[in-house]
Amino acid sequence: MSAHQDLIDRDRKVTFHASTHLRDFAHGDAPGRVISGGQGIRIVDKEGREFIDGFAGLYCVNIGYGRTEMAEAIYKQALELSYYHTYVGTTNEPLVELSEKIIGLAGMGMSKVYYGMSGSDANETQLKIVRYYNNVLGRPQKKKVISRDRGYHGSGIASGSLTGLAAFHDHFDLPIETIRHTEAPYYYRRSDDKANMSEREFAQDCARKLEEMILAEGPDTVAAFIGEPVLGTGGIVPPPEGYWEAIQQVLAKYDVLLIADEVVCGFGRIGTDFGSHFYGMKPDLITVAKGLTSAYQPLSGVIVGDKVWRVLEQGTGEYGPIGHGWTYSGHPLGAAAALANLAIIEREGLTQNAAETGAYLQQQMQATFAEHPLVGDVRGVGLLASLEFSADKRRREHFDPALKVGPRISAAALEEDLIARAMPHGDILGFAPPLVVSRDEVDDIVARAKRAVDRVTDELVRSGDFKA
Ligand SMILES: *Cc1c(COP(=O)(O)O)cnc(C)c1O
Repeated sequence: MSAHQDLIDRDRKVTFHASTHLRDFAHGDAPGRVISGGQGIRIVDKEGREFIDGFAGLYCVNIGYGRTEMAEAIYKQALELSYYHTYVGTTNEPLVELSEKIIGLAGMGMSKVYYGMSGSDANETQLKIVRYYNNVLGRPQKKKVISRDRGYHGSGIASGSLTGLAAFHDHFDLPIETIRHTEAPYYYRRSDDKANMSEREFAQDCARKLEEMILAEGPDTVAAFIGEPVLGTGGIVPPPEGYWEAIQQVLAKYDVLLIADEVVCGFGRIGTDFGSHFYGMKPDLITVAKGLTSAYQPLSGVIVGDKVWRVLEQGTGEYGPIGHGWTYSGHPLGAAAALANLAIIEREGLTQNAAETGAYLQQQMQATFAEHPLVGDVRGVGLLASLEFSADKRRREHFDPALKVGPRISAAALEEDLIARAMPHGDILGFAPPLVVSRDEVDDIVARAKRAVDRVTDELVRSGDFKA
């Protein structure tokens, strides 16, 4: 038996994997794979098979794989100080530098950074901050948080409740009581009665829906709105024109805080340091994770703006030290990795590359797929892109989910040694390559994706499930 197969067999017996069909995997009826290395935009498995990682892990390995400089930065910090807590004002050198760096990059009146290990735990912190904030202000009833359908904010009890995807709620008794979901800014999937709306009209319509929800709930009960600048896991959907402007007008009117979940967009992915910069958002709070360290170490952050910070200070003046903390908050190895990662992004101009090579990716995706019979929508911004497949292009009709068109195309891409992700709830193929991707590599990604889409199109035609 190969070393690869042996590892998979042992793994099946002892590992509980994320987002996996547990029974099929444990009993050998679903495939496994052991990843053993990577370089640039490519990863390699234990059998030596190489893949282009068109999704940067989970949109996180932004500087690409195999950066020895990262290993050295982490090693050097580990030799010096691997860990000490950051409770009661204790700090460490890389952390000070990192907080200065993040506040400097963010601008927008941001004031302080609280650290965690994952996007999910950072959003748990956000919810606690929002509650505390309104308690300090003497508004104990102002606690509800509005998220969007198809938003992704993590998979804990609270963060999973913010997520607007049924797979993360069903059978877990979620969402929790204080969370609501409003319409996704998903122009392509707008309902038929809105078919004639322009993007701008649809954005206004989303804002109107939000306002109706706030009024129905009672503005004095709604504390915050959370959104990703670009919907990520919900289908890689850039907002329709004018969306954030319209939403922010509603939030301002009812004194509702804006939390920008920048876990995917933060640190360059769409060609600006933050997605909020790209869309003119003025968040009160920001969540960061993935791109902060390019996943060389687990690290997340909650960036707190002046307005909220002042109230938190006032609160501790009244109640004493804040009752919130993780053992690993401000972990020195995470901070060292983040600093080295941000230095690489800056030195190599990767945010600029995301803008330029990203524009090229969008162009090539449009040129290759806009007229493809199977493709209903081609969309994206910077180095985020997706294809949505449709049974009837003109009428925006969905395929029967049982046909599993999205997953089949993702599997066909894998046969081309390309990783592109089938997104949940729809036949959508997502792309988010590392920010180091070159034009030639974009050509390669698009060519492989084209072969995969063509192959599944042929299959669907042959089985009578699609007429090209
Ligand atoms: C991945 C993600 C999260 C959750 O991060 P984890 O590190 O997986 O907990 C939160 N928000 C967004 C936008 C994400 O993409």
